Amino acid sequence: MTSDLLARDRRVIWHPFTQAQTAPEPIAAVKAQGAVITDADGNEILDMISSWWVNLHGHAHPAIADAVAHQAHTLEQVIFATCTHAPAVDLAEGIAALLPEPLTRVFYSDNGSTAVEVAMKMAVQYAKNRGDARRTRFVAMEGAYHGDTVGAMSAGVSCGIFDVWGGMLFSVDTMPNAPTWDGDEAVDAKEAKALAALDAYLAEHGDAVAAAIVEPLVQGAGGMRMCRPAFLKAWTEKLKAAGALVIFDEVMTGFGRLGDLFACLKAQVTPDFVCLSKGITGGFLPMAATVTTEAVYAAFLSEDTAKAFLHGHSYTANPLGCAAGNASLKLLLSPACAQRRAEIEAFHRAALPGLAKLRGVNKPRICGTIAAVSIETGSGEKGLGAAVGLRLKEFFKAENMLIRPLGNVLYLLPPYCITDAQLTRAYDSMTRGVKGLFA
Ligand SMILES: *Cc1c(COP(=O)(O)O)cnc(C)c1O
Repeated sequence: MTSDLLARDRRVIWHPFTQAQTAPEPIAAVKAQGAVITDADGNEILDMISSWWVNLHGHAHPAIADAVAHQAHTLEQVIFATCTHAPAVDLAEGIAALLPEPLTRVFYSDNGSTAVEVAMKMAVQYAKNRGDARRTRFVAMEGAYHGDTVGAMSAGVSCGIFDVWGGMLFSVDTMPNAPTWDGDEAVDAKEAKALAALDAYLAEHGDAVAAAIVEPLVQGAGGMRMCRPAFLKAWTEKLKAAGALVIFDEVMTGFGRLGDLFACLKAQVTPDFVCLSKGITGGFLPMAATVTTEAVYAAFLSEDTAKAFLHGHSYTANPLGCAAGNASLKLLLSPACAQRRAEIEAFHRAALPGLAKLRGVNKPRICGTIAAVSIETGSGEKGLGAAVGLRLKEFFKAENMLIRPLGNVLYLLPPYCITDAQLTRAYDSMTRGVKGLFA
């Protein structure tokens, strides 16, 4: 069975982010329940990365599955430029009610990259519509990842995986970050230096910046790089004071991933845009939202069609995605879910120091349900192709653990249904995997 499927896969499929010539065989998934994926040979694989950070409540959660099935039998898709429907309005109301007060307008798209692209395009047009044509520059944070479309790649150029497309990208001004970890003594100095660099930049170019974009509190694909809330707040406030719009890319951090429902709430800072995707449907369907303020929305109102935001996708506000989003939001807002997220963080706080004591393990860091360390084998290797990451990935595959290091960064980002017993297994496995690197 498995070998047949894998042979057919090899003939017809092109996998994302994969060097097919050297990559191990993909997992032939046949079903998934809770945190466990079952493959075609009956192996049970523990999903410790929420299937690329999209899954919140476990796989195939019956409440979301039922909502999608019901919606599919009722209203599956209509053109959103001409129609509206209750699932879309319910979800927009539900999300706006949770975000800081000025964030009330929801624009739907299909994935994290488009959520970012929409915010960047809105920011440019906002300035133009207001007659402020000079504001065309973008500011981004060093080490950021914002997705794989051209605008998102431009903003995330410093993550270093887009070099081949450099000629397609537009110029974005990358500002220094101040990533930190437990026991980091240099953090105050790093933050002061990064904020001084931003001050110097804004003194020269502040009135030409359309928008700044940042992954608030945790940079995901860049290696689970975490910063302190006060740094994010100071950074954001300087940009807002210069008249720039600020975009929080909460594609990964949203929907409880950092314990609090959104990073902007955890850091107590209000941006002009919040980009949401990944967890928005609980991991069921592709869906995204760009949420902004009435002030931004009002700048697009006019007798003139050209002042409207002439952007959309064929499946914008797909009712199945919205139905999944509403069902997922209901689960997310239950007291049991908040409690479990807090318990996952407490588990990390108890277990991560043990891992961090091992040879080669550095920079332990935790934010909400995410825990990460950096592995240094002495080869100095970093980046997504680092051999240590590929070696560990193979080790975890053999252990039936879906753990996928980002280069030399080993991290857990489990679904909220994960049990303490499953977390214990994952930490045991990571301990053996890291020890094996030096054996
Ligand atoms: C994954 C991710 C994106 C891109 O989302 P896709 O749905 O993969 O296009 C953008 N920003 C952040 C912070 C992400 O983690």
